[in-house]
Amino acid sequence: MSKENTTKSSVPLLDVNRGNSLLRDEILASIAEVVDSGRFLHGPQVGELECTVAGLCQTKQAIACASGSDALLLALMALDIQSGDEVILPSFTFFATASAVARMGANPVFVDIDPKTYNICPDAVEASVTSRTRAIMPVHLFGQCAAMDKITAIAKKHDLPVIEDAAQAIGAEYMGRPAGAWGDIGCLSFYPTKNLGGMGDGGMMVCSDTEMAAKLRLLASHGMQPRYYHKLVGINSRLDTIQAAILNVKIAHLQSYCDARQKNAARYAELFTSAGLTECVELPYQSPHALHVWNQFGIRVPGGMRDSLRKHLTELGIGNEVYYPVPLHQQECFRDLGYTDGCLPQTEKAAKEILHLPIYPDLTEREQDTVVNGIKQFYESASLRRAA
Ligand SMILES: *Cc1c(COP(=O)(O)O)cnc(C)c1O
Repeated sequence: MSKENTTKSSVPLLDVNRGNSLLRDEILASIAEVVDSGRFLHGPQVGELECTVAGLCQTKQAIACASGSDALLLALMALDIQSGDEVILPSFTFFATASAVARMGANPVFVDIDPKTYNICPDAVEASVTSRTRAIMPVHLFGQCAAMDKITAIAKKHDLPVIEDAAQAIGAEYMGRPAGAWGDIGCLSFYPTKNLGGMGDGGMMVCSDTEMAAKLRLLASHGMQPRYYHKLVGINSRLDTIQAAILNVKIAHLQSYCDARQKNAARYAELFTSAGLTECVELPYQSPHALHVWNQFGIRVPGGMRDSLRKHLTELGIGNEVYYPVPLHQQECFRDLGYTDGCLPQTEKAAKEILHLPIYPDLTEREQDTVVNGIKQFYESASLRRAA
């Protein structure tokens, strides 16, 4: 491909620098403040961020930690999940949801998804509850909440705690209630590609039970209280003050990031519709109960065409990705759990058909046009090939 061609059509899947560069001076000043203070851990910026996030999630407490993965692990530790316990979760999610369960020596019980939202199917959750079940972990995948009214009702009926994996869903809502406020503990991530992305790793747990929150905080700091007296066997999982300082700058813009993502999603829907592409691919479904924050925009490409469409877009320099190509129940590391191919049909189908397109806040209209034109071109040449 010629250089001219590349610069004309290339659209990155994600460009974190565009958003961050607008805040560069403010971010650098906030970092300088931490450097000068010397309080690299437990600085006041961490508490400030915790207050803001608790307010956003409408929970009483928020506890910072080192990553979204640690948040999930700490949540399971706080619930005293033991070896041999069962935890119900979707197979169609990022690995960390399940690895936290496995780390505790417990068994992940993978259940199928609702094919429209890609989120855990409440009926499948209910059907998977056994006498060994100790928790339910719904994931708010791609920025849209799972059916939390139904899931919390099932949890209540069986007296089970709910841990929300809200890593992709900060700012999302379901029936007007924020992600993280539905369950016993909500887990957030500040990984750079998330809607509130830091400049390194970071995570947070939100929780309205004061005792549980204190336990989470204790577990994240070696179970130590007071200094060198250990009440519990915890881990070391802290959010660096520098990350908190950066996130305090960025969180003031979270609403505008979400607005821009929603605008991009709506514009994709218009462009796909007017290009006649809704005959070829399926647009992401938005539940009427959900305030979707569009961490990802995934279309469904039926008819075994997904991988050739991917290849076409990649050749045009159009960023794309598949979240996630291998469901967790089919991962090598979970082979011993004994799941067979075909046992979670909706999950397996979604993994074969889904294709994610650029949706980040600073994506330009021109870039969006390029993405949609690239897809249109693919289907036009496919029908030409069929006609020939
Ligand atoms: C990103 C992510 C995590 C893990 O968060 P990290 O901060 O990267 O450890 C967990 N679950 C889901 C669904 C995620 O997308």
